[in-house]
Amino acid sequence: MTSPTPKTAATAASSRVKAVLFDMDGVLFDSMPAHAASWAKVCTSYGLQMSVRDVYLNEGRTAHSTIEVLTQRTWGRSTNDEEVERIYRLKCEEFKNYPDAPVMAGAIAVLDAVRLTGQQIYIVTGSAQDSLLSRIYTHFPGYFERDRVVCGKDYRLGKPHPDPYLIGLQRAAVQPDEAVVVENAPLGVRAAKAAGIRTIAVNTGILDDSDLLGEGADWVFPSMAALAEAWPRLVETL
Ligand code: CA
Repeated sequence: MTSPTPKTAATAASSRVKAVLFDMDGVLFDSMPAHAASWAKVCTSYGLQMSVRDVYLNEGRTAHSTIEVLTQRTWGRSTNDEEVERIYRLKCEEFKNYPDAPVMAGAIAVLDAVRLTGQQIYIVTGSAQDSLLSRIYTHFPGYFERDRVVCGKDYRLGKPHPDPYLIGLQRAAVQPDEAVVVENAPLGVRAAKAAGIRTIAVNTGILDDSDLLGEGADWVFPSMAALAEAWPRLVETL
């Protein structure tokens, strides 16, 4: 009597990566054009120099940190809570004039590709507005559970500090080399790399690839659709 032949290793290649941490604005939602236009308009009318490119370069900072950069550069002085509150309120009012941001083209395809290769998916965002966060569940139904969204209310030091992504690692209970980040912003890439995580940049805005590579992005894709197409092969190398 012969013993059954043992099955050999599964044909599907396995990846060491267990979790993918997604940024939200500019990655899952095409919201940056409206954010950039509102920031630039409000700050310029307040007397602070801020171009649309400046908004993209500073994306990820808290409102306080963003306005501090501008007051230092324009007037050579610090900002204060009252000024931040006033400018940020105007920015939020201006932002409401724009239609709700659509889901980023290719985002669902990326999430489906990641599901297929078996990684857990998380969001790590600087946003703390309930109205924006709730859109995650309505526009990506079934993709993100509530405990898999790290938002601006979960930490004190925002991007480019590594804390948001360190919390993401804790939530996912994985080591930095068991995760990968998907980011669109230079300071988001800096935050992820500071947390020790390999980072895929998707250049969905107006910046140059060098702006993202300069912060240490390990890969740059021109769109989420391009990332979705590349994912099955890329994940095998991670
Ligand atoms: Ca972003």
